Formats: sequence, structure tokens, C-alpha cells
Amino acid sequence: MSVAKYLMAGRILEDRLFPYPSLREKDREVLGMMVDAIDQFLGPKQQDFKRWDLAAEQPAEFIQGLRDLGLFGLIVPEEYGGIGLSNAGYARVLSQSSSHDSSVSLTIGAHSSIGMKGILLFGTAEQKARYLPKLASGEMIAAFCLTESGAGSDAASIRTQAVKNADGSWTLNGEKIWITNGGIADLYTVFARTSSAAGKITAFVVEAAWPGVSHGRHEDKMGIRASSTTAVSFAGVQVPAANVLDTEGKGFKVAMAILNNGRTGLGGGAVGGMKALIAHATQQAQSRKQFDTPIAQFGLVREKIAQMTIDCFAAESVVWMVAHYIDSGDEDYSVEAAMSKVFASEALQRSAYEALQIAAGSGYMRDAPYEQITRDCRILTIFEGTNEVLRLYIALSGLKDLGRSLGELKAAVDDIFNNFIKGFGVLTDYAEKRLTQATGVGRDKILTQMPEALREAAGVYERYTVELAKASDYLLRKHGKSIADRQHDLKRIADIGIDLFVGLCVLSRAAASSRGPGEQGEHAVRIARVFAQQAKRRMANAVRRITRNEDGEMNALTGFILDKGSYPWDVLI
Ligand SMILES: Cc1cc2nc3c(=O)[nH]c(=O)nc-3n(C[C@H](O)[C@H](O)[C@H](O)COP(=O)(O)OP(=O)(O)OC[C@H]3O[C@@H](n4cnc5c(N)ncnc54)[C@H](O)[C@@H]3O)c2cc1C
Repeated sequence: MSVAKYLMAGRILEDRLFPYPSLREKDREVLGMMVDAIDQFLGPKQQDFKRWDLAAEQPAEFIQGLRDLGLFGLIVPEEYGGIGLSNAGYARVLSQSSSHDSSVSLTIGAHSSIGMKGILLFGTAEQKARYLPKLASGEMIAAFCLTESGAGSDAASIRTQAVKNADGSWTLNGEKIWITNGGIADLYTVFARTSSAAGKITAFVVEAAWPGVSHGRHEDKMGIRASSTTAVSFAGVQVPAANVLDTEGKGFKVAMAILNNGRTGLGGGAVGGMKALIAHATQQAQSRKQFDTPIAQFGLVREKIAQMTIDCFAAESVVWMVAHYIDSGDEDYSVEAAMSKVFASEALQRSAYEALQIAAGSGYMRDAPYEQITRDCRILTIFEGTNEVLRLYIALSGLKDLGRSLGELKAAVDDIFNNFIKGFGVLTDYAEKRLTQATGVGRDKILTQMPEALREAAGVYERYTVELAKASDYLLRKHGKSIADRQHDLKRIADIGIDLFVGLCVLSRAAASSRGPGEQGEHAVRIARVFAQQAKRRMANAVRRITRNEDGEMNALTGFILDKGSYPWDVLI
């Protein structure tokens, strides 16, 4: 029951969104202590973080400190010596560490979210018993090795090779690039193309100490400079048969499952970054005076602080909703996870831009925190799936399921078309009737549990869920399978879907907060109302642009510039 996919079919699964979930009691207890311990350990190290950023290093004693705090065992079950946090609890820890320094979060996050996640999700009892206790204590640090020089977004095109030996073991050859924790890891989850009849990609657990494993130099990066990023090479590495993760040939599925499951860690980190930016910006806006007035009095500065707050609340609401889905044992959450990653990463980048703008000249200076945060957060829209590729994934996954349900409908009437999607046009009346039944178009309310103060905001999502379903149906009928090549349209579908899902999470959280005491509930309602109006404008624009756009003109212009190889105009000519 993927909430996001149902949105594309015109349905809001109210009971999957309301009431807003709360953290497990067990997590709350651990988090209370953990958050304080993180603040005490990282808080006094601000100058060190600056130095380590410049020097591009993370000293071994500091990493030992992270081990001592238990930060490598956050999501390892207690039976293996870990803390056993839920996904929601884990995201909250990363939020706290990110409010101090992104490189720290990356060291912890690459280890837990992706480095060892394969063993947690797919490991055999023997693999778990052998590795998890060492991973929990940080005696072993983990990394995730998928990317290669020729295989970035197109991860399925990797060339690292695993050849099966007569005794069932494997010989691994190839090179991975830009591997987070590459230089400090003791254990790598490695994806390689297998030469066996099963072919395809297989995932392996590889120890750094084995002969033939080596790593390159620490990359000189734009941001998250202290975090280790290196190439990792495998030259004739002998991997025992027991170190295959899941089954042979299922490596691509393993890689995607790890990335999907890990996205809330990244989202939690983004929220922590935003909270830090809001605190800096608030302090700056109140202390800085111009025209004899604190700049916090000026409308254009106030607007930025409000927008950062709305973005942060929205990112927090969606990230923890997705974490709750994962913790509840849902299996179909990849679209929601992708939506949360896209929204949270872009919200943080907007906030970094605006916070620096509030600090202006002093924000541009290196002794202020903004320039480092701006550099550090730039990576979030690039790794763990670029936001472009994730938008395509969001749209196509939803459309695929819609296409399937349209296919079922068609079959129910008569199997007369070769191409079920194109042929579906004939069934429009029937489909619209079904859409009406499914969505309640024409009925007043679909979301039944709304406080009055949020009713109008709820109406925005009710209406645009129907608009999204209609737009998806229209595009499927118009383009059939070639919809996969209509990237401008897919982006619009994804953006409407993101606004709907994020907006509904905001609504749910605000509804829950509004019932609590104090001013925060009142302002949470305010946030939900503003977000709904902003989302409405964005969604209306996207819907309009499905039928009226400049896509053709833009493509023609790109073709011209690509041919020229540069910008050809000049005021001299
Ligand atoms: C600091 C850092 C740390 C990293 N850590 C890890 C790690 O720990 N493990 C790991 O395996 N990898 C890691 N990566 C790699 C990262 O996941 C890749 O950089 C990312 O997947 C994108 O691949 P690429 O950089 O090759 O870009 P490309 O795939 O070459 O993409 C270039 C551009 O084209 C766009 N694009 C690509 N395909 C499409 C398409 N079909 N439609 C539309 N647009 C498209 C992209 O969105 C992007 O804008 C890391 C990278 C960096 C920079």
C-alpha cells in the first residue's frame, strides 16, 4: 500500500498518513541520552571541524571518540552488541550530529546507512554473527562500493568482475571510485558483474585486509572534506562463497534496497543542517543592525526565516513519516523514500543559500559557518541517486502501477488492443467513473479527521490528488510506453507527487500538533496552511505546463548550443 503510488491513482490513503506517528518509547529513552552526549562531544569541536575541513582529514583519535560514543552501532540489533535504534531513531541521531558537522554524519552514515546495511537486510546468520559485533563497536568500519568511472547513475553498467572458481569462491577484479569511508573502512559491500550463467550483478562482503584490496588517496573535494572519499581497487581478490550477499545475480536488487532503506539517514542529516542554519540566521538577524534597525525587522529578511522554518518542518515531517513506514515493516516505500530525499536535500540547499544571504558579507567570510555548510550540503542532491534520476524514478514507478491498473481495467472490459495503454483511450468514460469512485471527486471531503483550521489546506491536497491522477492518465494515454522518454513531463508528475506527499505529511503533523498545548501547535497549523498554498501554486503551474509548455523550444535551443559547443552571442558582433 504505497501512499505515493496511490496518490498517482487519485487516492489519499488517509489511515496511512493520519495520525502522525510518534517515536517508539524505547528510542526516546536512548535518544535523550545520545543527543546530549553528541552535543557534549561535538559541541566544543567547532574550531577543530574547521581545521579538519581545510586540511581534509578526520584524525584517528576523533574517530575513536565516535566509537566510544557508540555511534557505529546505532542500528545494529542489541543481540549483536549494537544500540538497536529504529530507522526513525537513527535519523534523529544523524540530525543531531549534522547540526555540528556534516563530515561526521557522513562517516557514521556511510557506515550504517549503506556500508553495512546489506548485512542487516540480507546477511545470513553466519555473516551477521561474524561481522555485526565488530561493525557495532566500530572495530570494523564499513563502506558501500557501487560507483565506477563508467557507471554513476547507470549503476547497472558496472564492470568490476567476479569470476567463480572451481571451489565456489570468487576472484574479484575492478575499481570503484568516490567511495565514502573508502580510506578508513575495514569492510566493503562490493557490487560486481558475475561471469556465471546467472550473470548479472552480485553483492559481496569484502574485507579490506584481504590481499589485493587497496584504496587510493583522499579526494580533494568541494565539501564534506574531512570525510574520507577514495577509490577502492580489487586486484585478484579471493572472496569466499560464504561472502555473497543474498543470492548470486541479485546484486542490483540488493543495492537498490540498501539505498532505499538508507535514505532517511540522509534526510535526517539534512534536517539537522537546517536546524543549525535557522539558529545561526535567527541570531544574526537579531544582532545585526542596519538603518538603526535590527535586520530581523525587515520584511525580506523575515520572509527568509519563515521560509527556512517551513522547509525544515516539511522536511522533518516527511523524513520521519518515511522512517515510520520502514520501521512498521512496509515493503513498498521506495517512492516515498526518494521523495523525502529529493525534498530534504533541496530544502537544505535553499536554506543554506538564504541563511548566508541574511549574513551577507560576513556570511561570505570563512570564519562564519555558512560557506562550509553551503559547500557541505551541495553533495546531497548528487549522491545516493541524483535528484534528477530520483524524480524520474518517482514518476515512472507511479505511472507503472497506474498503467498496470489501467491494464487490469481494460482486461475487465475486453482484450482488444495490442497496446493496452494507448488503447485505453476508448475506455475513458469507464476510467473516469472509476476515478470518481476512487477519489471521491464531487464529494466534499476525503480527509475526514481534519481540524477546522486545516480544512482548507486539506482541500488543496484532495483536489490536486485528483489533478495528478488525471494528468498521469492523460500522459499515459497520449504517450503510451514512450512516456519513459518524456523527461519534462515526468519531472512535472514527480514534482506534483512530491508536493502532495510532503504536504500531506505536514498536514498530518500539524493536525497532531494542533491538539497539543502551547504556541507550537498554533504555528504548526500556520506552517501547514502556508505550505499548502505554496504547494498549490507550484502544482497548478506543473499541471498547466503538461499541456502548455516550451519543452520543444527548449530542446531546440539545447540542440543548437550543443552543436555550437559554447554560447555564440557577443555584444561585440
Ligand atoms: C563525495 C561523494 C561521495 C560518494 N560516495 C559514494 C559511495 O560511498 N559509494 C558509491 O558507490 N558511490 C558514491 N558516490 C558516487 C555517487 O553516488 C555518484 O556520483 C552519483 O550516483 C552520480 O553519478 P555520477 O556522478 O557519475 O553522475 P552521472 O551519472 O554521470 O550524471 C551526470 C548528470 O546527468 C544526469 N543524468 C544521468 N542519467 C540521467 C538520466 N537517465 N536522465 C536524466 N538525467 C540523467 C544526472 O542527474 C547528473 O546531473 C559518491 C560521490 C561523491 C561525489
